[in-house]
Parts: sequence; structure tokens; C-alpha cells
Amino acid sequence: MPPPPVRDDLRTTRPYVTVPFSSPIRPLAHLNNNESPHPPSGRHLAALRAAAARALATANRYPDTGLLALRTALAEYTGHGVRADMVWPGNGSNETLLHLLQVYGGPGRTALGFGPTYSMHRQIAAITGTRWAQADRGPDFGVSPAAAGAAIDRHRPDVVFLCAPNNPTGTPLDPATLDVVLGAEPGLVVLDEAYVEFSAAGSRADLLARHQGLVIARTMSKAFGIAGIRVGFLVASPDLLAPLRVVALPYHLSTLTVSVALAALEHAGESLAHVPGILAERERLRGALADAGHAVAPSDTNFLFFDTNTDSAAVAAELAGRGVLVRDLGHAGWLRVSVGSPEENDVFLKVLTEICTIGGSPCPSV
Ligand code: PMP
Repeated sequence: MPPPPVRDDLRTTRPYVTVPFSSPIRPLAHLNNNESPHPPSGRHLAALRAAAARALATANRYPDTGLLALRTALAEYTGHGVRADMVWPGNGSNETLLHLLQVYGGPGRTALGFGPTYSMHRQIAAITGTRWAQADRGPDFGVSPAAAGAAIDRHRPDVVFLCAPNNPTGTPLDPATLDVVLGAEPGLVVLDEAYVEFSAAGSRADLLARHQGLVIARTMSKAFGIAGIRVGFLVASPDLLAPLRVVALPYHLSTLTVSVALAALEHAGESLAHVPGILAERERLRGALADAGHAVAPSDTNFLFFDTNTDSAAVAAELAGRGVLVRDLGHAGWLRVSVGSPEENDVFLKVLTEICTIGGSPCPSV
């Protein structure tokens, strides 16, 4: 018997691609996922271990479904008067975004994004049968208020994705653009703040009290440094979040995840203490890339988007072959590099220079 036919609208959708740990490449520099380069250590690590051990001691029981302790801790962490009933946690913010589009997207509805942007927004639209409309960012990778207004007029979306700061470009969001989008009341406005801890602009959770259609997506995968535990959360009005309970599977967050996330929140100070060092390394990388003749997009995040001045896919492949993983997102000529540890960043700069100076400069040889 042949395998059954795939859903018509999913036939051409490709999976989200990352380098699997099982790949034969043993990376020297892991600069492709915008993770924290700092694993938990010392008292922080001890607290996470103890939390995991406590969770395991009750592993025979299903997890708590109310998640009140976690929602309370996330609300306190978010600040801006956010309460526990305004928080929706999930297995990474990706899962919470899926919940959102399962409820507010779907067949007959349209989601609008401004590319290049986080590719999972489009992917989650595809998974949920939501039509995807994309408007282009300007040459500086920003979205002007006029461009945002025009795209909303043209596509009449039910959902608008804004990424602040934007992945993969690192660009901050013009507050005037957010005003235009919220003012147009397109339905749901998703403000993805995955990198907000690195951003000079800070969170816009202050807007939630005035905008019932706004939802903010946050994650513990970046500055918090627990990408492997998978915790993200939405912040919005309780009325917006309540219907998500229909689509979430029962017990979607494991006891282990919840327990470790709570311990990580108690030790937020230790994780966030790494942010200034990461930003200093980002500036060092930016300077070195600029000195080597690469245009670099302004970044308010823990990564940089830079012009290789040549075939970016070939440069990414050459780098990977020498153990340096960066991300090629299909934006011709440009690559995204995450800020790693000082050692990883040194390896990246050294290998990039080798590749780029084989036949001259900058990067003509690949
Ligand atoms: N939003 C953005 C903009 C991201 O870059 C990422 C991770 N790459 C996510 C959301 C998802 O993060 P997670 O599912 O790990 O919370």
C-alpha cells in the first residue's frame, strides 16, 4: 500500500532546517541558532539540577495544568503590570505561536509579515492553513510606517507579525510603525520579542492594557540560555488567551520543563548578567566585519546580518566545512552570524578571513 497523499496545501512546504546534532560536522563555533553561548554554571546549574530532581520524584503524575506558579513568575519577570492570567506558556515560543494561529488564523484567513523575517512565522501560517502575505523591508531592513500601512491596505490581513528586534536582520522596530499597525486594527497583532533582553528599545508590554488585539511573544531560549528546555510564552489580554486552551494538547508542558523554568526564573540574574558581555562581543564582531569590507545591518540583538559580497550559500558551506556554523537564510549575499563566546567569535573571524583572502578581497574566491 503506498503512503497516503499529503494535504494539498502542504505538498510544497519544506521543513524548518537546522543542523542536527547527529551531523558529521563537529562544530568549532556554533553560531547558527542565536543561542546563548553560556551554559548554566555554578549555583544556577545546581538550582536547575535540584529542580529537575524534584520533578522526577513525581513523574508518575501528570503535570499541573493550571501552570499558575510558572505564569506568575513569568508575569513578574515581564513587568509592566502583567498578571498571571495574561501569560500563556508553551514549549518554546514557536509552540505558542502555533496555538495562536490555530485559533486566530486558519483557512480563509491571511497573515502578513515583513521579510526577510523569522521564517517560522510563515511556516506556522502554512501548517495552520493560513494564507501568507509578505511585504518587503526597505534597503535598511526597516519597515517604515507608510510601508506597513500600505501593506495592511493591500493585503487586509487577519494577523500581522512584527518582529522586534527582527530576526535575521537584527533591526529594531520603528515605534511609529507599531503605532500605524495597531491603529489599523487588523485583527491580531503579534509582536515577537524573542530578542528583547538584548534590545536597547525594551519590551512594549506597556501597550497591552490599551490594545486587546496585541499579543507579545517571548522566549527563554535566547538571553535566558535554556533553549534546550523549550520554554516560551505569550503575553496578552486574558480574553485573547482563553481560547488557546481549546487547541493546546492536555498537559502540554512537562513537569520537568515547568520545574526547571521556575528555577531558571529564580536565577534570571545569572543568565541576564551575560548580556553586556554578549553585546560587547557583538560590537567587536561588527567592527571586524566592517574593517574587512562587509556591510553589516544595525543590530539590536545577539546576532549580526552581514553582506558577504559574494555567493552567501557558498561562504556558509565553506565555513561549515571548517567547523563554523552560521545561517544562510536565502537573502542573496547575506548571512546571519550569532554572537558566540569570544573563542567562537575568534574562530569565525579567522576562518572567514581565510575564505575571503584565498583569491583577494573581499570574498571573491567562493
Ligand atoms: N521568534 C523568533 C524571532 C526567533 O528567532 C525564535 C528562535 N529562533 C523564536 C521565536 C522561537 O524560539 P523558541 O521556540 O525557542 O522559544
